[in-house]
Amino acid sequence: MAATAIPVDTLPSIDPATGKILAQFERTLPEVLPEVLSRARAAQSGWRALPIEKRCAQLRVLRDCMMASRDVLADAVVAESGKPRVEALFADLFVALDTAQYFSKSGAKLLRSERVPHHSPAGKAKSGRLIYEPVGVIGIISSWNYPLAIPLSQIIPAVAAGNAVICKTSDFTPHCGALIEKLFLDAGFPKNLVTVVQGGGEVGQALIDAGPDKIMFTGSVATGRRIAEACAQKLIPSVLELGGKDAMIVLADAHLEVAASAAVWGSYTNCGQVCLSVERLFVEQAVEEKLLALCVEKTKKLRLGPGCDPAIDVGPLIRPHHVQRMSDLVNDAVARGARVLCGGKARPDLGSNFFEPTVIAGVNSTMRLFQEETFGPILAVQVVKDSEEAVARANDSAFSLAASVWTSDAKRGQAIAARLRAGAVMVNDAISYFGIAEAPHGGFGASGWGRTHGKAGLLEMVQTKYIDVDRLPGREKPWWYRYGADLERAADGFLKFEFGGGLTAKLRNARTALKTMFRDHGL
Ligand code: NAD
Repeated sequence: MAATAIPVDTLPSIDPATGKILAQFERTLPEVLPEVLSRARAAQSGWRALPIEKRCAQLRVLRDCMMASRDVLADAVVAESGKPRVEALFADLFVALDTAQYFSKSGAKLLRSERVPHHSPAGKAKSGRLIYEPVGVIGIISSWNYPLAIPLSQIIPAVAAGNAVICKTSDFTPHCGALIEKLFLDAGFPKNLVTVVQGGGEVGQALIDAGPDKIMFTGSVATGRRIAEACAQKLIPSVLELGGKDAMIVLADAHLEVAASAAVWGSYTNCGQVCLSVERLFVEQAVEEKLLALCVEKTKKLRLGPGCDPAIDVGPLIRPHHVQRMSDLVNDAVARGARVLCGGKARPDLGSNFFEPTVIAGVNSTMRLFQEETFGPILAVQVVKDSEEAVARANDSAFSLAASVWTSDAKRGQAIAARLRAGAVMVNDAISYFGIAEAPHGGFGASGWGRTHGKAGLLEMVQTKYIDVDRLPGREKPWWYRYGADLERAADGFLKFEFGGGLTAKLRNARTALKTMFRDHGL
C-alpha cells in the first residue's frame, strides 16, 4: 500500500465479474498532497543530479522486477479490470516491460545534447546547443482500463528524464496502483521518487492544487476539460490523453477474413473499453454483405465470462451503469433505423456487468453510437459508396485519436492514411501501435493534446534549454547603443545583405554589413 498515504478510510478493489470486494486499500487524504509534493521535490533533487545513463540503467532493474512479479501483476489487472489474462499479459505487461526496456536502452541517446547550427551569417558568430532538463515533479492522473500499461508508460520516461512522479491511479484499480509504487521501491529507486496516491477525483484535484510542474492526464473528455481548467488556473502545462472514436475503413480489395477478425477483436478487446477501440467501421458497399456475415459469424463464436477463466474471450464491463449505457446506445440506434445483427443485450445471468458482443449495421452520424465514445463491446457499421465517402465520414468526428485502413494496396492505404484526421493511422492493423515503444501516441480535438510514448512522449517530460555561446566575446554587438542615422542606414544595408536577393545584392551590401558588425559604438 502507498507508503506515503495517510489513511482516512479505505478504497475497495472490486472484481467487475462478480461485484465482490477483493481487498481494501488506503485512501490518500487530499490534505497530504502538499507534503507528498515536497517529499517528491526532495527526492528529485538528488535523482536529477545522477547521470542519465545511471538513471536509465535502473530501468533494467525495474524491468527485471516486473518480469519476476508478472504473475502477481497480471492477477491484479485481471481481478480489478475484468479483462482476460491473455490481454493483461499482451497489453499491460508487454507495454510496461517494453517501455522499461526501450528507455533503458535509448533514453540517454534520445536526450543527448544537440548542436543547433545557425543558418544566418550573423548567427554564425555564435554556437548553439540544446540541452534537455527534467521538468521537476510530474503529476500523472490515470484511467483504469490499462492499469499498468498506461501509468507505467508515462512514469518510466518521466523518471528516465530525471523527474519525480506523483501518480494518482484510478480508484477502480487500487491494487495495481499499490503494486506500481512497490515495483519502484523493489527496483531500488529512491524513496518518494515515485509515489502513488489513491482515491477518486478529489485526490486528483488535490494533486493539481499542490502545484506539480506538469500534469499528464489520461481519461474521459469531461474530466479532461476539468483538468485543463484546473491546470490553466495555476499555469501548469498538461498533456491530455482523452477518448477516441476510431474509424476502421475496409476497402473492397481488403483481405476480408482478416479485416473481419480485426474488426471483432478491435471492437471487443478489453470489452471495448479501449481509447483506441474500433468504434466506427466504414465498409465499401461492394463487400459489405460478406464483411458483415464474417463479423457476425466470428462474434457468435466468442465466449463471454470472467477474465480469470482462460476459456473466455470477452470479459465484463467495469461497472453496472456501463451496461445500462450500452443498452441505451443500442436502443437509440435501433430507434433511428439501425439493425442489430447479433448480441445487443445485457447478460444478467452471467453477472451485473456483462453485455453481449454486438454487431449493429446501418449506423450513421445521427445516432449516439457514432457521436459519443462507446467504450463497450459494440461493432457499429456504416456502408459507404467508395473510399472518398469513407474518408469524409471518418473525418466527421470531434475525436481524432487513431484510425485504420484495410486494403491489399499498401500505397493506397498510406495515401488514405495521410488524409485521415487522427494522431495515428494503421494500415492493415488496429490498436497495436500502442505497443510499439517508438510510436508516439495522442490525438487532437476532443482526443486531447500532447503525446505519450516514443521520443515525442519523452520530450513532454523535459524542458528544452537553448545554450548560446558567443564566438567573439571581446566585441560589443552592433545592435547595442548608441543609435543614430548612421546605424539606421547600416541596419538597412544589413537587411539588404541578408534578404535583398541574389549574390549580386549580397556583394553590393557586404561592405555595409561588415561595417555594421564591427562598428564603433562611441559609448
Ligand atoms: P475518468 O475521466 O473517469 O477518470 C480518469 C482519472 O481522472 C481517474 O484517475 C479519476 O479518478 C480522475 N479524476 C476524476 N475527476 C477528477 C478531477 N476533477 N480532478 C482530477 N482527477 C480526476 O476516465 P476513466 O473512466 O478512468 O477512463 C476512461 C476514459 O479514458 C475513456 O474516455 C478512454 O477513452 C480514456 N482513455 C484515453 C486513453 C488515451 O491514451 N487517449 C487511454 C486510456 C483511456
